[in-house]
Amino acid sequence: MKELFRTAGEFLLQLLYPRRCPVCDGIASPFGETVCAECMPVLKPVVAPRCIRCGRGLSSEQALCDACRSGAHLFARGRSLFTYRSAAPSLYRFKYAGRREYARFYGEEAVYCLGDEIRSWGPDLLVPVPLHPKRRKKRGYNQAAEFAKELSGQLGIPVSENALKRTRNTAPMKLLSPAQRQNNLKKAFIVPGNDVKSKKVLVVDDIYTTGATIDEAARALLEAGAAKVLFVTIAGPGARGTKVQ
Ligand SMILES: [Zn+2]
Ligand SMILES: [Zn+2]
Repeated sequence: MKELFRTAGEFLLQLLYPRRCPVCDGIASPFGETVCAECMPVLKPVVAPRCIRCGRGLSSEQALCDACRSGAHLFARGRSLFTYRSAAPSLYRFKYAGRREYARFYGEEAVYCLGDEIRSWGPDLLVPVPLHPKRRKKRGYNQAAEFAKELSGQLGIPVSENALKRTRNTAPMKLLSPAQRQNNLKKAFIVPGNDVKSKKVLVVDDIYTTGATIDEAARALLEAGAAKVLFVTIAGPGARGTKVQ
């Protein structure tokens, strides 16, 4: 069951600073909702048929996408909630315009739509993809961690924000080709402790495009002894025609 306000304090806070809608960025209506009823249809879920491994939308009924069929990925499987195209403007504000509050909506919606599947994977730990400390400081928060904390609270699975660390301030991925992305990310992550040993780790990020970021996170986690790496993201590729980028 979805609750509009978790505490009386939250209710009061909402009166003073009403939550913004992740779609139109106005005050979400009706009051207390995390998204406007009329805005919700703008966000399109990644519908079936989907690749059973990476979750991308496919234009014809088949089990795996081309990349997964050729064994390109290190993660076991994952899902994205909305198509990248439908969620891009919202995610841009979530990431760069201080709209940290959208995390609540994304978290609730991800649990509502993907919760059963995520639980069926049996993850022990949620690990958000980290930002480089410099970038995190500039932005004030890590959008992937905000989303992961919401998921953690609602799924009852612990989250570790420090399990994975970024070693380098990598170039923004959107400026790079797929090959450059892979190179850009080489050894971009380390696992400083032993939080992940023998655990099924659910990597949490905002966007899945080629899978390069999740794969590099998976490489570091598996090298540190993780039993399995899964992922969930807010947005990912829909079927052809809903192009990523
Ligand atoms: Zn709205
Ligand atoms: Zn796939």
